[in-house]
Amino acid sequence: MTPTRIALLGATGSIGESTLRVIAANPDSHVVQSVSGFRRLDALIAIVSRWRPARVAVADDSARDALLAAIDYQPDVVTGPDGLVALAEDPDADLVVAAIMGAAGLPSTMAAARAGKRIALANKEALVMAGTLMMDAVEHHGATLLPVDSEHNAIFQSLPTDYRCGQSIAGLSQLWLTCSGGPFRDEPQRDLSAVTPAEACAHPNWSMGQKISVDSATLMNKGLELIEACHLFNVPADQVRVVLHPQSVIHSLVEYTDGSFISQLGRTDMQVPIASALAHPARIDSGVAPLNLMELGQLSFAAPDDERFPALGIAREAVTASQYHCIWLNAVNECAVADFLAGDLAFDRIADRARQALDSLTTSPIDSLEAVLEADRNARRWYSEL
Ligand code: NAD
Ligand code: MG
Repeated sequence: MTPTRIALLGATGSIGESTLRVIAANPDSHVVQSVSGFRRLDALIAIVSRWRPARVAVADDSARDALLAAIDYQPDVVTGPDGLVALAEDPDADLVVAAIMGAAGLPSTMAAARAGKRIALANKEALVMAGTLMMDAVEHHGATLLPVDSEHNAIFQSLPTDYRCGQSIAGLSQLWLTCSGGPFRDEPQRDLSAVTPAEACAHPNWSMGQKISVDSATLMNKGLELIEACHLFNVPADQVRVVLHPQSVIHSLVEYTDGSFISQLGRTDMQVPIASALAHPARIDSGVAPLNLMELGQLSFAAPDDERFPALGIAREAVTASQYHCIWLNAVNECAVADFLAGDLAFDRIADRARQALDSLTTSPIDSLEAVLEADRNARRWYSEL
C-alpha cells in the first residue's frame, strides 16, 4: 500500500498536534508531505526536525531564514498566504488537513477544493464564510470533504459509507448537534461580564486552541457548527437542532424519518475524528484508549439556554438571512474574541457585537472568493470603527 501523503496546514495548532500524533501511530499508511506554522516558530522547528517534510510554509522571509538556520536539511520553504495555497495545491499531497484557525484558513482550504483534493476539514470558519462557493468547488473539481469537527465527523460516520458531503441525506428527519454547554453551563448565577480569558478557555471536556475555546464558552462555536452542518450535509437550518449533552460522549446524531437515531460515541479526544477522516472509509489506530462503557455512568440531555447564551440564535438568524450575514458574523466574532482575549472586551459583549453587526446589515450578493474576502474586510473595518 502506498502511504497517504499529507499536507498539514496549521501544524503548530491543537488540531495540528493531534494530527501528528495520529500519523505517528500509523507510519506505514500516512506520511507528512508538508506543514505550515504561523507564529510559534520554535514549535514549527521542532515539528520540521522530527518529520522532515519536503515543503514548509512560514509567515515571512525572516521566519524562513530562522527555520533554515535551525534544521539540518533543505526543505522547500514557501511564505505568506500564497505559500499556504501552494501547499494545498501541491500535486505531491494526497490529502490536505485544513487546520488553520479562522478566516486565515479560507484561501488555502478553497485552493484544496479547487485542486480536487481529499480535505480533512477542521477549519469550520471557511464553510461559515464561503459555504456555497466551497461546496460548489468541491463538486465541480471532484474534491472530497471529510469532516474533522467532532460533531460533523460523528454525523458523517452515522451516514451510509458511500455518502459524500454536499449530497442530500435520504430519509433524514433532522440532525442533532450535541453541545457540552461550555465552562459556565452549571453556574446560572455567574456574572458573565466578569469572566476572564483563562476561565473562558478552561473547557470542561476538550483541550483546544484559544479562539475555539472562547467560542465554546459563548456557544458561538455551536452557532458556527450549525452553519457548517447546513453546508456539509445540504440541509436547511431548521433541520439542524442543538441539544445540551454535558458529558460529550455522544458526538452528534442523525434522526431518520422512521424514528431511528444513529450516532457515534467516543472519548473527547480529537485524534478519534482525525483518524476517521485520514483513513475514510478504512479504519486506523487513533492512539486513543477506547471508551469504558462500564465507567461511563449516566448520559444526560437538555435544551440549551438561549437567553444566557444568545450566540447560537444569532448564528441561526445569520444562516437563514444570507451568506453575507455569515461572513459578517464570523469576522465580527473573530475580532470580538481577539479583543476579549486581550482584555479589551467583556465576555458577554462578544455576542452583543455580533448582534449589533447583523442588525445594521443589508445583504449583498456573494459570488466569488474575492467578494467573500472583501465582505470580511468590510466587517473588520466596521468593527474597528465602533
Ligand atoms: P490553534 O489556535 O491551536 O491553531 C491554529 C493554527 O493556525 C496554528 O498552526 C497557527 O499557526 C495557524 N494560524 C493561525 N493564524 C494564522 C494565519 N493568519 N496564517 C496562517 N496560519 C495561521 O487552533 P485549533 O484549536 O487547532 O483550531 C484550528 C481549526 O480547527 C479552527 O478552525 C477550529 O475551529 C477547528 N477545530 C478545532 C478543534 C479543536 O479541538 N482544537 C475542534 C474542532 C474544530
Ligand atoms: Mg465541534
